[in-house]
Amino acid sequence: MKRETRGVVVVGGGPAGLAAALSAVEAGCGDVLLLERDIRLGGILNQCIHDGFGLHAFGEALSGPEYAARSIDRVRTHDIEVRTGSMVLSLSRDRVLEVSSRNGYGMIRADAVVLAMGCRERTREALSIPGSRPSGIYTAGAAQNLMNLENILPGRRAVILGSGDIGLIMARRMVLEGASVEGVYEVLPYASGLPRNLRQCLDDYGIPLHLSTTVTEILGKGRLEGVVVSRVDESRSPIPGTEREVPCDVLLLSVGLIPENELSRGCGISLDSRTGGAVVDETFMTDVPGVFACGNALHVHDLVDWVSVEAAEAGREAANWAASFRRGKEPEVPASLPVKAGEGVRYVLPGRLRGGRDTVFSLRVLAPGRNRDVVLRVDGRDVLRRTFPRVHPAEMLRLAVPGKDLPPGGLVEVVSS
Ligand SMILES: Cc1cc2nc3c(=O)[nH]c(=O)nc-3n(C[C@H](O)[C@H](O)[C@H](O)COP(=O)(O)OP(=O)(O)OC[C@H]3O[C@@H](n4cnc5c(N)ncnc54)[C@H](O)[C@@H]3O)c2cc1C
Repeated sequence: MKRETRGVVVVGGGPAGLAAALSAVEAGCGDVLLLERDIRLGGILNQCIHDGFGLHAFGEALSGPEYAARSIDRVRTHDIEVRTGSMVLSLSRDRVLEVSSRNGYGMIRADAVVLAMGCRERTREALSIPGSRPSGIYTAGAAQNLMNLENILPGRRAVILGSGDIGLIMARRMVLEGASVEGVYEVLPYASGLPRNLRQCLDDYGIPLHLSTTVTEILGKGRLEGVVVSRVDESRSPIPGTEREVPCDVLLLSVGLIPENELSRGCGISLDSRTGGAVVDETFMTDVPGVFACGNALHVHDLVDWVSVEAAEAGREAANWAASFRRGKEPEVPASLPVKAGEGVRYVLPGRLRGGRDTVFSLRVLAPGRNRDVVLRVDGRDVLRRTFPRVHPAEMLRLAVPGKDLPPGGLVEVVSS
């Protein structure tokens, strides 16, 4: 078994891991190792062949692979060791990673670790949809992988459950490949994807969206033959008598993403019940010293641009930590206090704050609305108020707050009204 000691080890070679590795090396760490379980870098972007990536970062509408390629090219020109086909199996509190690769099993002791493992999709089991178990039921991302990377069309007549962005994008993709889409069904009274995707993926292709409606039964034995859909009431319970059969041979589920947190959980990192990812402070450090988290493994992002920005910050902080660690002392971790997601706010990051430094808060609101104020309060005093003409849970909001407004020990709450 191979044993090594390394500086900054980044887990995951998607846009988050790539950005973290780059910034760690740019911040002066001369020993950066990037581990990716897949045979190629790029993460989920490899299968996102539609455009719309990089509008903020590059001012261009790139496809997923194009966006990934820009980061991969930069990583290749820096002194970063990249190991693909390397799956991290576990992480301990003293930052020892167990890794399985084509060269066998190994253990790496890291000065600092950046977790950038992305997220996973919720499945039929998570929803407990009753009925038989025929073939033809996929998560939207799995179908995207089949179509865009394997050239396999999963069916010819589709129903999509959930109006998240991946479901909307896949509705359009199915139509472009010659299939029909019977409809997109959404349990909420509003669409959960970005408005631009609603326009470009459904409206432009005449695909109907049925709100306050869900799938209540699966039909068919060997192969999916249809689904039963029902209207739901305000508590999202199906309304008896509203059942309707919709024939289809493929059901795509776009019902939510969950940060990939097996390594974090195994390491004993505190997780946030709202984001599903680690609780981090404003340096992106978890409550296990020297372990940082970013990207969709931290919280699910709508735009990859912010993934890259946040991950670059995490990489920089990891490099700083590793540098102090190499100087022979475990860096001191300043005290931090929880940040409260108050009224109207689903979650806010960072979940803990040391204070005294410039911080960008990322948050999502609970419900769509117009002309909403988002207010950041410190010790009950409003330090920042911004009015948004339109807010939506699908769109992450970012608030930059100067360090002088965030005193150490201040109690921070973010509300939306
Ligand atoms: C279908 C879809 C459509 C999207 N559309 C858009 C869009 O139009 N515009 C936009 O800006 N954004 C879009 N996004 C969002 C954006 O792509 C993601 O937010 C971003 O790619 C997340 O990056 P990440 O690096 O955190 O995760 P990922 O890209 O998922 O990368 C995580 C990597 O970690 C690796 N990994 C996981 N566990 C381990 C382990 N134990 N050991 C080693 N490696 C591991 C995985 O193999 C993967 O390569 C879309 C996302 C999806 C899923």
